[in-house]
Amino acid sequence: MKKKAEFERNEDSENDSEEQYKKTGDLNVKHFSRYGEFLVSFELSKHGWNVYSPMYDEYIDIIAHKYACAKCGKNWAITPSLVCSNCHKDFSKTQKSNIIPIKICNKCKTKYKGNVIKCKKCNNSGSENFINIPTCDKCHGEVKLVNFVCSCGSKEYKTKFRTIQVKSSRIEYKNEKSKNTFAIDHKPRDIISCEHHYFIWCLIDDLDKPHFLIMSVNDFVKTMGGSMKGISFLKDQDRQHFSSKDFGKWKGFANRFDLLE
Ligand SMILES: [Zn+2]
Ligand SMILES: [Zn+2]
Ligand SMILES: [Zn+2]
Repeated sequence: MKKKAEFERNEDSENDSEEQYKKTGDLNVKHFSRYGEFLVSFELSKHGWNVYSPMYDEYIDIIAHKYACAKCGKNWAITPSLVCSNCHKDFSKTQKSNIIPIKICNKCKTKYKGNVIKCKKCNNSGSENFINIPTCDKCHGEVKLVNFVCSCGSKEYKTKFRTIQVKSSRIEYKNEKSKNTFAIDHKPRDIISCEHHYFIWCLIDDLDKPHFLIMSVNDFVKTMGGSMKGISFLKDQDRQHFSSKDFGKWKGFANRFDLLE
């Protein structure tokens, strides 16, 4: 509910921007669940994951994938760099236009700068008769495609895949009064027994700020304890209500994106 002062301010203002401001509470249930999946996706991207959306909803909302160093686990750059083989100047990002193309006649070995298809010295012609060498503008060394090497020295990487089910919750209210709780409902069919499957809970507080709880299926089962055998869980009627302040027994999973690694 809006305070009286706020209404008055809106009446005064010309463009009513405050009146138009909406919160996640205004999203319907379906859109809110999609909203949570997007927030989780962006958050995963920050942690170096490439995120994919399955064609059909089969208890997996997101597939996440990344390359990591096989030795130290650091994020791996899969695309090769354009580097001068002599002075190691990196042309990959913004410097590409500074690479100087050199053509060498394969008969008399005369060097030309730029696009040449006929040798002025020996009349050799045709692009196939010239060797093309991209060179460094600083030292004239050859610019080559170089595969990534980790700062730990490793040349080996591994590919990781994770499947993720996202559950989202807003603060629970009763008679317009905040209960200061979130509610998440997992069903027995969600308990996919794959070590690469995870749950991510996206919890939106009253300031519209998201909080993420990350857990493996095993973590979930362990934390649930005896409730896993509870009738309400087995009958799809279980809802986990927990404090929106400290996340109750789930607090250990807050922001634990490292668990996905
Ligand atoms: Zn490494
Ligand atoms: Zn160079
Ligand atoms: Zn020539």
